[in-house]
Amino acid sequence: MARVVVDVPLAHLDRPFDYAVPDELAEQVVAGCRVRVRFAGKLVDGVVLELGGSSDHGGKLAPLAKVVSAEPVLTPEVAALARSVADRYAGSLTDVLRLALPPRRGAPEKKPPVDPPPPPAAPDPAGFGRYPTGPQLLTAVAEGRPARAVWTALPGEDWPTRLVELCQAALSGGRGALVVVPDGKDLDRLAAAAERLLPAGSVAVLRADAAPDTRYGRFLSAARGTAQVVLGTRGAVFAPVRDLALVAIWDDGDDLHAEPRAPYPHARDVLVHRAHLAGCAAVVAGTARTAEGQLLVESGWAHELIADRATLRAAMPRVQAVGSDFELARDAAARSARLPTLAFDVARKALAAGSPVLVQVPRSGYVPSLVCDRCRAPARCAHCAGPLGISPRPGPGGSRIAACRWCARPAATFDCPHCSGTKLRAAVVGEARTAEELGRAFPGAAVRVSGRGSGVLATVPGGPAIVVATPGAEPVAEGGYGAALLLDAWALLGRADLRAGEETWRRWANAAGLVQAGGPVVVAADPAHPVVQALVRWDPAGLAARELADRRELGFPPVTRMAAVSGSSAALAEFLAALRLPEHADVLGPVPEPPRPGAEGERERYLVRIPRTEGLALARALREVQGVRSARKTPEHVRVQLDPLELA
Ligand SMILES: [Zn+2]
Ligand SMILES: [Zn+2]
Repeated sequence: MARVVVDVPLAHLDRPFDYAVPDELAEQVVAGCRVRVRFAGKLVDGVVLELGGSSDHGGKLAPLAKVVSAEPVLTPEVAALARSVADRYAGSLTDVLRLALPPRRGAPEKKPPVDPPPPPAAPDPAGFGRYPTGPQLLTAVAEGRPARAVWTALPGEDWPTRLVELCQAALSGGRGALVVVPDGKDLDRLAAAAERLLPAGSVAVLRADAAPDTRYGRFLSAARGTAQVVLGTRGAVFAPVRDLALVAIWDDGDDLHAEPRAPYPHARDVLVHRAHLAGCAAVVAGTARTAEGQLLVESGWAHELIADRATLRAAMPRVQAVGSDFELARDAAARSARLPTLAFDVARKALAAGSPVLVQVPRSGYVPSLVCDRCRAPARCAHCAGPLGISPRPGPGGSRIAACRWCARPAATFDCPHCSGTKLRAAVVGEARTAEELGRAFPGAAVRVSGRGSGVLATVPGGPAIVVATPGAEPVAEGGYGAALLLDAWALLGRADLRAGEETWRRWANAAGLVQAGGPVVVAADPAHPVVQALVRWDPAGLAARELADRRELGFPPVTRMAAVSGSSAALAEFLAALRLPEHADVLGPVPEPPRPGAEGERERYLVRIPRTEGLALARALREVQGVRSARKTPEHVRVQLDPLELA
């Protein structure tokens, strides 16, 4: 008997089915291999979860139709993880397996398996020497102990090398490791460090954009146990690493870690959960610290791996803030680029010293929020604490009124909890400056641009140049930047997103961390703003603690879990009527949903909020309704997403 996960995208059929193994296939079929089976009259793909002697199924079992390949691609550990992730995100096992298993290719399977290289020596503990508990972490990983850390890296840290040292520790103990980073640029740096430090053949780099044969070949080298270290972007969270001793994620606040395909799992959440299931070590790392990372520390799940204050002071850039009423540089070209005097002087000095200068400018397309007119704190709904915005649907008489973006209640009056202000204003929307304007302000200096539209540069040479980059696209400069200018803070801080503060710090710090130790960083933002203060003091842990305390008070994630349920208003009404909500759930909405590709007609969205401890019960209740709707062949799709990243 073979228990098979059948690739049928129907919520009510989300369970394994038993098939008989015919004698002629008995030689080939193994747990974890791909098969074809007859299901509801059709031949469909499936994966064997396990083989057994007998079935609970009473009648005669249908036989497996075909073994597609005898290669086991689904390990028991990954199968259990996938099931669990499906449950947490109200999705189905087949959805998760589609994320976990790359498409099969014939050629890589024909290559004979290769023995793994012998384990390397333990890593040099000096690399983690700047963090008091760093060397202990390396030892724990080498010994296969389930150490858990939230590592807040020093500015300018050679983090790819540190993460590879952790992998080396796992390998030295004869075990495996998995590291996930946000994008290809980070993965290149990590892979280069691995090439230097780890034995040839011990590493598989799983890149989303690799050619299908390459991608499947590398996946197989992990599944077969040749490569015990897997480095990759978010899809690699499900990689079949042998004897997993460590999972790690870099820059867990980056929104690229959120999977855009159903059931929309977040890489950090999957890895933390995987560490829990596998009983292995976990490191959640970044220059910044997320509220989720802080919750792992405060709940006692992880300890914090940080440098002491003196070490930090020696490594941090010198950050200065110039307020909104700053003085503009006297230079005519600098004035037209709206550069503050301090920023202009700092940049000119760095260029004269022969160093490149990083200028961070925002990407376009942020949704600005409403703020308190007096103290500029983001305006929140009195009922649910959701963000206030201008309602997209005009009110009576065509007037546009302020309303909650979560529960849709109009904000007829406003009473600021911070300063008792009663007036609202739109967050300042400035005009972003261009690379051309900046170039004119520094005649003679080369201008390089790095961003999504113009292409992302991974590195720039060490000479004098103005490097204009959008957040996340900052190239690493050889020898470090001589200075960095963080401009147009309004675009980051004024976003409606509830993660705006944390996200702004992360983006600033990732840019400022590329400056030579002690080098100047100028941020054009109000020096009294808590996020700006946390940058000047370089205090990501303090900011994360404050952020988490705020979210606890307001009932925001990660202290609560949220589910976004969207569809047509008729489908939603029927969905909610069938939903058996756990006791402490709070339903907010509906609000009109902005049109998204693939979704037709006018759609609405409800949010369901629940204390974190009841998150699984909420996911179960949502899945149950999806199951009933799928069994009844309800034609209209209702989209369910747990813990959406953007809650604007
Ligand atoms: Zn106020
Ligand atoms: Zn509200």
